[in-house]
Amino acid sequence: MKNNISKDMTNALMVWFDKHHREMPWRGSDDPYHIWVSEMMLQQTQVSTVEKYYSQWIERFPDVFTLAEAKLEEVLKVWEGLGYYTRARNFHKGAKYIAENAVSKEFPFPDNYDDWLRVPGVGPYTAAAVSSIAFKYPAGVVDGNVKRVMARLFCIDTNIAAQTYHRQIFKIINEGFYDHHPGWVNQAWMELGSLQCTQRPDCSTCPLKEHCCAFKKDKVKDFPLKIEKKKIPTRFGAAFIIKQGEKFLMVKRPDEGFLGGLWEYPGFTLKEPEHSYLERFCRKNKIEIINELKERAKHTYSHFHQELTIYNAELNGKWENSDWTEYKLVDEVEMNKLPKSKITINISKSDHHS
Ligand code: SF4
Repeated sequence: MKNNISKDMTNALMVWFDKHHREMPWRGSDDPYHIWVSEMMLQQTQVSTVEKYYSQWIERFPDVFTLAEAKLEEVLKVWEGLGYYTRARNFHKGAKYIAENAVSKEFPFPDNYDDWLRVPGVGPYTAAAVSSIAFKYPAGVVDGNVKRVMARLFCIDTNIAAQTYHRQIFKIINEGFYDHHPGWVNQAWMELGSLQCTQRPDCSTCPLKEHCCAFKKDKVKDFPLKIEKKKIPTRFGAAFIIKQGEKFLMVKRPDEGFLGGLWEYPGFTLKEPEHSYLERFCRKNKIEIINELKERAKHTYSHFHQELTIYNAELNGKWENSDWTEYKLVDEVEMNKLPKSKITINISKSDHHS
């Protein structure tokens, strides 16, 4: 059986969306920059969190040219706390690309899916979202919500994380816009997945229940196919609070790579436990431990848990370590201005910090 979205399905979806969609600061806008900002932030992040960041962002970087001209450090600072910092760095690179290639100040953006894909840091999800919402370009947005809805609607029992599944859903959605605005249809599918066809779906009030294969076969629980989640490892390490007078030693990570461009306390995280590494690290960096704090700093990233032992420490000489690109001594006020990861923020707020 061919899995296709009928016109009746799209019509029913759009009637439902019209009545039930949530208001969001960017919803209703056809400004490509505003949509781009919201879509970059919404990946892996809840709408309620994004709302706050979105307003701050637009206030500080009201258009793509302001963003392109800003320093990466400032971009990371405004993004601070949203996590997945690669998105912020990529967004900055993308803005520079748009600014450099702009045909005019008034219309700097590409108006179609393929040209958006050429923008650094823009993948299929963002390209489809921005081109469809801002320019009515018929490209399907395929996110986790949409994948789940489609698996149930058509009883598709493949691994929804597979690229082939992504392509399959992209095609199905692209053929189901009919005469509706593609951007609104895309948002409607995502909203249905967020509000109705959730992990625990409310099928009784679903606008698509008459069309839904899983519902009709009473097999909603079987879709999407359950994929066993890989257990993520815990990586241990240390962070050193090194205070000189009223100032703290902070170091900056290289711009590229994990947590790139963020500031942190000197320290390390080991992929594999390594006996005596603490001693070697301290010796190499002329660090003398004063005491170990009782509490540990913990954070979970997408691919590992991090657990850091925190030490109050002194420096026995000058800081010299090229693993970090910069270092500086900062007071509390300057500290607040530096872009930092969540775990570093938590350490900076710990009772033992002052
Ligand atoms: S009927 Fe249930 S499973 Fe099917 S699309 Fe609606 S909410 Fe999802």
